[in-house]
Amino acid sequence: MSQDRAIPTKFRAYTPAQFKDTKYWKHLDQNYHKTFENTVEVLPFRVNDYVLENLIDWSQWQDDPMFKLLFPQKGMLTQEQFHKINTARAAGNKSLTEAVKDIRSALNPHPASQTTQNIPLLNGEYLDGVQHKYEQTALLFPCAGQSCHAYCSFCFRWPQFISDPSLKIQAKEADRLADYLKTHPEISDILITGGDPMIMKAKALARYLTPLLEIPTVKNIRIGSKSLTYWPNRFTTDRDAGQMLHLFEKIVNSGRHLSFMAHLNHWRELMPQPVEKAIQAVCSTGAIIRTQGPLLRHINNSPDIWERLWEESVKLNMIPYYMFVERDTGPSAYFRIPLAEAHEIYRRAYQRVSGLARSARGPVMSTKAGKIQVEGVLEQKGEKMFILKMLQARESNLTQTPFAAKYSDSAAWIDELQPYDNAPFPFEKTEPFQAAC
Ligand code: SF4
Repeated sequence: MSQDRAIPTKFRAYTPAQFKDTKYWKHLDQNYHKTFENTVEVLPFRVNDYVLENLIDWSQWQDDPMFKLLFPQKGMLTQEQFHKINTARAAGNKSLTEAVKDIRSALNPHPASQTTQNIPLLNGEYLDGVQHKYEQTALLFPCAGQSCHAYCSFCFRWPQFISDPSLKIQAKEADRLADYLKTHPEISDILITGGDPMIMKAKALARYLTPLLEIPTVKNIRIGSKSLTYWPNRFTTDRDAGQMLHLFEKIVNSGRHLSFMAHLNHWRELMPQPVEKAIQAVCSTGAIIRTQGPLLRHINNSPDIWERLWEESVKLNMIPYYMFVERDTGPSAYFRIPLAEAHEIYRRAYQRVSGLARSARGPVMSTKAGKIQVEGVLEQKGEKMFILKMLQARESNLTQTPFAAKYSDSAAWIDELQPYDNAPFPFEKTEPFQAAC
C-alpha cells in the first residue's frame, strides 16, 4: 500500500448512492455490489475521501481489514434477512420500508437497556439525550453530534445513524443536564458521545460544554471520537480547527481533566502521516488521549494486531485503555468472538508489550449490570471455569467484585454464561441505583 496518498483538505462524505458514483465502486465486483446494496438498506453506511484514499488497500480489498471496518460484508445480515430485503426491493418502497423496520427491530437496537434503565429523571421528566448508568459518570449525546466522519460496520451506536427518530438518543441543549448535575454532586465525569462529537462545529460543541464548566463538581470531561483516524484534518486544517483546540484548552485551563477517548481498531489506522500531526495538536492543549475499541472477527482478531496497536499508541503519546467485547447488537454475529478466544488474544498481546502498554483492560463486556472483565480461565480438579470481575457496576458496591462462571468454548456474552456454583451472579442479587431526583 503506497504511503503517498492524496490527503484531501476539504471534508466530503458519501452516502451509499453517492459512493456508487465514485471510482471505487468499479473496483468492487458484481457479487459485492449485491451485498452492498442489500445491506445498506438496513445498516448505516458513510465514508469520506480521506478514509477511501488513505485507509483501504484497494489492490486486495476483499481481505483488507480496513475495508471490512468501513464497508458492509456478506454475513452481516442472515441469509433469511438478505433474501427478505431482496424480495422487498423488487416489490417496491412500502414493502422495503416494512422489511427494513422488521429486521432492524430484530437486531437489538438498544443493548444493555440503554433507553429504559439509564435515562435519568429531572423533576419527574426524562432528560432526553443523557444517560446516567454509573454513579460518577453521565453521558451526553448532543443532537448535532449524531453522525461520524465515517461509520464503522460494527458500531453498537448504529441506531443513532439511521433515519428513525424513535431509535435515537439525543439532547438539544445541556442546560437541563447542568440542572441535574447541581442535584447530583456525585457525578464527576461527563462523557460527550454520539456519534462523534468532533463532527460538530467548535461553536456548537462549546454551547454544550460551557454550562457544564459552571458546575464545580464536574472534574473530568471525556470526548469519545474516531476523528483522529477518520478525519485527522479536524485538528489541523479544518476552518475551525484552531477554535476546537482552543475549546480543549479552555476545559483544561478551567482545572478539568480532558480525556480524548480515541476509538481505534487497527494499527493501520495510525499509519497515514496526518494522524501524528492531529495527535500532537490534541496533546498540545493539555488533553490526554486514551484508546479503546472492540475485538472483532475479520478485523483485529489476532494478538499481533493488538500488540502493534498498543505499541504504536504509546509511541504516539496515547494511553491504551480498553479492549471491549463486541456488543450483542446489529451485525454482531459477523464479528462475534467467544470469550475464551478473546481472553487468549488479550493475554498473548499483553504478554508481548511493556508495562506502559499494559494499561489496556480487557476483554471487557459493557453489559446492563456494568463493565465485566474476563480475568482468565482456571482449572480445578479437571473442571474449567471463567474468572470474571465487575470492573464497573450500576450498583457501585459491586465494583471490583470477582465471580466465577462455568467454562464454555462458545459463549460470547455474559447472558450465555452460567454461574459456576449455580448461585446467581452478584449483579443478579441487587437492585441497581436509581438515576433520578
Ligand atoms: S465506533 Fe465511533 S466512529 Fe465508528 S461509527 Fe461508532 S461512534 Fe462512529
